[in-house]
Amino acid sequence: MRLNIALIVLALAGGACSRAVETGSGEASSAAPNLASARIVDLSYSYDAETLYWPTSPSSFELEELHHGPTEAGFFYSANVFSTPEHGGTHLDAPIHFAEGGWTADEIPLDRLIGPAVVIDVAAQAREDSDYLVTIADVKAWELEHGPVPAGAIVLLRTGWGARWPNRKEYLGDDTPGDASNLHFPAYGEDAVRLLVEERRIAVLGVDTASIDHGPSRNFPAHQAAAAANVPALENVANLDQLPATGSWIFALPMKISGGSGGPVRIAALLP
Ligand SMILES: [Zn+2]
Repeated sequence: MRLNIALIVLALAGGACSRAVETGSGEASSAAPNLASARIVDLSYSYDAETLYWPTSPSSFELEELHHGPTEAGFFYSANVFSTPEHGGTHLDAPIHFAEGGWTADEIPLDRLIGPAVVIDVAAQAREDSDYLVTIADVKAWELEHGPVPAGAIVLLRTGWGARWPNRKEYLGDDTPGDASNLHFPAYGEDAVRLLVEERRIAVLGVDTASIDHGPSRNFPAHQAAAAANVPALENVANLDQLPATGSWIFALPMKISGGSGGPVRIAALLP
């Protein structure tokens, strides 16, 4: 089993490698880590009773036990039924979530979901303003230090909000059941998203808060801009404090729901 997993990862990384070569991307940050020595960081939260959902979500994660224990035939057996809204916990937003005709979860090509990570840190700004919106200036400041954000990158925004998970009040800014009108957390500004998806042509946008639009948003311009460019999003990404600004590779593989607008995603980062 372990060997099989290693082979699958190897095969996926091999595909991603050749993609970087095909697109002519020569940046050092696009070189895949050596799998034999790479450290793997889990960027997904577990799904359980603590998992945070949007305040207006009709339900949350549910796990119903079908069987757990010895069977009449003498062997041990465990199986459950789970149910969950698509958008909760560490999950993917497929482009169709905010763009009619955009890719559904099952339609997103795998080579978009595997790629070099760019980690933009705005934790200092978010400490001063819990509704902070990332600006074009933030992206350009990152590029001054690290070089251009490469095409095909998976851009992850580190706000420091991961330390607040799963405290609903601290993470979302409000814990009033059924009410999403008083939320506070940082995310991407619309202009920064347009720069990343239209000019830098990144593959995926991610964030360590509940949404790529900040808490007070009413019309979700970051979602609209990303979806219009057929760029999926990753929300409630875990453990971003463990990632360097460049050099790691992301594997963000969602549940393959036919026609899905998103879904639970297991995200792994490979660090050189
Ligand atoms: Zn979502």
